Amino acid sequence: MAEQNLFEMVKRHLCSCSTDLVLSENVEAVLKMPRREIHVSIPVRMDDGKIRAFQGFRVQYNDALGPTKGGIRFHPEETIDTIRGLASLMTWKCSLHNLPLGGAKGGIVCNPKELSTTELERLSRSYVQVMFPYLGPDRDIPAPDVYTTPAIMAWMMDEYSKIAGKTTFGSFTGKPVGLGGSEGRLDATARGGWYVVREAARDMGMNLSGARVAIQGFGNVGSFAALLGQEVFGVRVVAVSDSRGGIYNPDGLPVRDLMVHKSGMESVQKFPGATNITNEELLELPVDILIPAALENVINRSNVQKIRASLVAEFANGPVDNEADKSLFERGIQVLPDFLTNGGGVIVSYFEMVQNFNMDQWDEQKVHRKLEKKMIDAYRAVYTLALQNNAPLRQAAYSIAVARVVDAMKMRGWV
Ligand code: GLU
Repeated sequence: MAEQNLFEMVKRHLCSCSTDLVLSENVEAVLKMPRREIHVSIPVRMDDGKIRAFQGFRVQYNDALGPTKGGIRFHPEETIDTIRGLASLMTWKCSLHNLPLGGAKGGIVCNPKELSTTELERLSRSYVQVMFPYLGPDRDIPAPDVYTTPAIMAWMMDEYSKIAGKTTFGSFTGKPVGLGGSEGRLDATARGGWYVVREAARDMGMNLSGARVAIQGFGNVGSFAALLGQEVFGVRVVAVSDSRGGIYNPDGLPVRDLMVHKSGMESVQKFPGATNITNEELLELPVDILIPAALENVINRSNVQKIRASLVAEFANGPVDNEADKSLFERGIQVLPDFLTNGGGVIVSYFEMVQNFNMDQWDEQKVHRKLEKKMIDAYRAVYTLALQNNAPLRQAAYSIAVARVVDAMKMRGWV
């Protein structure tokens, strides 16, 4: 895989829109560096009695619009540059969707598949112990991301509350519904992404009903993208994959059965009636819509010419690198940029915070309705500006998001 540093990639996108915005050198200098970075070593007693020290990070990128917000990832190949890039993306995501929040991201270098539940709990609680002074409902509010779950958020919120000496639901989002979580949060990223795809398909004259869709990734985002795609939005899911590989059936896959299969087998592969394929092959299938919903940089110089979809919807963060992005635009393949398309997660996180602050509980219909409106509003603003400037949607999205952050910085007197 051709590797591009995610932080460099996001900074390059920022530069590409700064000509529209005429950003001053001072402003650009502020926007290109995180405001605060916390690096920690997290000692954890393992089940065999030994102590292991895990490396952890939190990057609080920009808090001009409000307290910083963003997920925590547990991944063996985590790097500080990826977290910086993702924290920067969170800043633009919250801004584009008009949330009163800044951007952050956290990570722990670990392989959660090799940890027992008790080890995972101790690691999660220890992360909160060392990060406590930097977190909180009016400072920085983490959420789930790659390999982190509602159960982990429950431990983290509990640890935060113990140290604070009071239940503090608003300190973490993506919690279980029975413990201060919001209805509709679990599938919010995928659902929000589909609202954007539906609007974009309409603008392209593409009929969603029966459209062939390939989805890379079968974690929280990918699996709900497949399920909702098939059951709510009427598409035909022809291929899915996870970290071990994928499966393909041009006639469509029964997604619910596949979810049961995956939970038993730990992989989507070897599903009856489908052909095993690699993750690389999945990206190159003849489909209408391609949804990368796993990790960053998967569409790059080495495979971009082989992409055959007419629409690429970035449900993951940073799946298309700069070079591939340019090439897809030149080939007329529409790309729905990550921080527009996958904003549903943080939008419902924000709804969760609002409910927590008011000790309120909204029903699912209310969450869906408000999420749909936010996604459509953001898409329409981006699409209109892109048409006006004959620019890629990503560039338009950056222009809108960055302008709001710059305005807030000016009003605060920072620049
Ligand atoms: N991890 C999600 C994202 O990348 C959600 C963040 C949040 O809810 O704060 O957008």
